[in-house]
Amino acid sequence: MNGVFVWIDQVDGQALPASWEALGVGRLAADTLQQPLSAVIFGHQIDGLRQAAVERGADRIFCADDSSLADFRLDSYAAALSQVATSYSPAVVMAAATSRGRELIATAAFDAGVAPLVDVTALSMIDGVVHVIHPVYAGKIISEQVGRADRVQFVTTRSRAFPAPVLNPVSREVEVIALPVPAPSAIRIDSFEPTHNTVSLTDARIIVSGGRGVGGPEGFVPVRELAEVLGAAVGASRATVDAGWIPYAHQVGQTGKTVSPDLYIAVGLSGAIQHQAGMRTSKVIVAINKDPDAPILKLAQYAIIGDLFKILPALTQAFRQALGKA
Ligand code: FAD
Repeated sequence: MNGVFVWIDQVDGQALPASWEALGVGRLAADTLQQPLSAVIFGHQIDGLRQAAVERGADRIFCADDSSLADFRLDSYAAALSQVATSYSPAVVMAAATSRGRELIATAAFDAGVAPLVDVTALSMIDGVVHVIHPVYAGKIISEQVGRADRVQFVTTRSRAFPAPVLNPVSREVEVIALPVPAPSAIRIDSFEPTHNTVSLTDARIIVSGGRGVGGPEGFVPVRELAEVLGAAVGASRATVDAGWIPYAHQVGQTGKTVSPDLYIAVGLSGAIQHQAGMRTSKVIVAINKDPDAPILKLAQYAIIGDLFKILPALTQAFRQALGKA
């Protein structure tokens, strides 16, 4: 076997933080196997990314660098990843469980005829076999899953479930292996709207989420103000998304994003089981709710019982002063 391969998810040459976390997990797995850790990078003009991967612990870089790979396309990226997995037979191929990482690993695992181990929150290598933990049923059950020693094992790692590797900017000579460029993608994207100036939900250390209690789209104004002062991302319950108060990209939960921030502030949000599915692994949960019996309070370490429209401005003001942003 040829060690551990970690695919680095990148946009415009910038890796997603969750990819470095995956690389950190890969480092531990490779060390246990006493085999090399390889970063797998597809894109265009990716010298900076290659260097960044080396500084975060990669022993080898496999890269396909071509203008046709500048943006993620499932068909061409999956062809490249399947090719590298077949040609080099790593023990494990990993990626962060980003939207792209999930699609890519699922497709490459299908090509290899194995089931992927997805969205894992802990990973260890025992006798060359991957053992992972994967929370299921809204985190109520912890499932332990085991890979197969006779096949390449495909894994996605949950964002923020693992620490990022320590940056070591010392220059090191590492082997760089250029991969053949796959056939151009058959997928054509005519247009898209990038979102600017927002903190990514899945990478956020702090999330302030609004629920139906905010009462309407204008109710998200004080939620956003608190988020801005804290440098937080804005989340939402499905009820608010379905009502058209905030775009789907903000939805947390079973049918939205899975997040694991250091601090999750749930504002006017009851904490239905489907919402909990996306946020119960948050390290500290604070609920702001007028109902002392709301289910979110069973999950929260801290609660402020009262009207969110009085509590949020007071909190925002207090944080502004405490953080020197007044
Ligand atoms: P509510 O349950 O109505 O809660 C509103 C809360 O606000 C209450 O606790 C109330 O006490 C409080 N409140 C009201 N006014 C104030 C005030 N002035 N000050 C303080 N507090 C106040 N939901 C998700 O969130 N994410 C999902 O991904 C998701 N997926 C689903 C998938 C399926 C298949 C199904 C069936 C449901 C799914 N849901 C999901 C919906 C979920 O079941 C709940 O309906 C939803 O989460 C409720 O949203 P909410 O907490 O905002 O609203």
